[in-house]
Amino acid sequence: MLSSTVIQRCPYCYEEWCSSKDKVIYEPLIWFFEAVTLCHWHNQSLYQQCPHCKRELPPLASYSRPGYCPYCLKWLGVTANYPSSDKTPPSKEEIIWQTWVIKTVGELLANTPHLPKPLKREIVAQAFCRYVNQFTEGNTAAFARMLEIPKNKVWMWQMGKVLPELNVILKICFTLQVSVLDFLTQETLKETSSKFPATPQNQVRDSSTKKLEVKFDSDRTQKLLENVLQTNEQPLPMTAVAKRLGYPKRVLYRHFPELCRAISAEYVKYMKESRLKRIDQCCEEVKLAVRQVYTEGIYPSEAAISKLLAKPGCFRDKKVRAALRAARREICLEP
Ligand SMILES: [Zn+2]
Ligand SMILES: [Zn+2]
Repeated sequence: MLSSTVIQRCPYCYEEWCSSKDKVIYEPLIWFFEAVTLCHWHNQSLYQQCPHCKRELPPLASYSRPGYCPYCLKWLGVTANYPSSDKTPPSKEEIIWQTWVIKTVGELLANTPHLPKPLKREIVAQAFCRYVNQFTEGNTAAFARMLEIPKNKVWMWQMGKVLPELNVILKICFTLQVSVLDFLTQETLKETSSKFPATPQNQVRDSSTKKLEVKFDSDRTQKLLENVLQTNEQPLPMTAVAKRLGYPKRVLYRHFPELCRAISAEYVKYMKESRLKRIDQCCEEVKLAVRQVYTEGIYPSEAAISKLLAKPGCFRDKKVRAALRAARREICLEP
């Protein structure tokens, strides 16, 4: 949840505090959260490294001066000779996502006295059970599908066997349109939490209309899908393609059914071909192994050959078993 070794900082904050007489230079608690990557006052990316010596910045130590790098001792605020940033400015989506993250993490921090700390597995488990019950009538599979998370993961969280990382909880809460605090503490779902999930990548909350608006860049997506088909790289399943493009798979299928089916067919074909290739390779290995074992005076049994193969399980395939019989026949061990 909290990063203890590295903390992120905003150079603009430092500069602002330095130039105003009544402000002290400090490290806001929010900078300690890995999930927070932007400064919400300046909409600028936070830095993990000193811009001068590029070393990762630890939390303020007793011997270091606030606002200065503990290694090269240079000022961390923006100045005239401040090194130019190699970071790309945050996108609109990132700003929206981060604004939400900062708000909900801030709310969590402000209410920490009322929360058992550190975050207990049972509390998170109860929250998941509540949401699975209320969103999908207790159906974990349907809930997991809605969030596009593997079912067994949700089940483990529900059972309290594993505690999801804060980043995961944040994404889920964003999708469910509920604050992390409400997620963990509210017994019943608020009226405002939508039954229709949003995803950080493609749904943008329009502040003027307060309606969920799906931003779908049709032309760009079509080009990207076409690229996937034309590339010489290893074919990917549609799930991976969807993840790469940042849209749910069903959205892609709805807009470009033919392209999606073609990509999927390519992947199936590739998987079939690579399976055949593997089997052929196994057959070749079996042939060599039979000769080797035989010259050592050992009977080429399935067990003896298995020991020499890269993938011992390949005798499950009948083509490989046939290759063994053929190899034995060649050295007159089988009629
Ligand atoms: Zn700032
Ligand atoms: Zn430094």
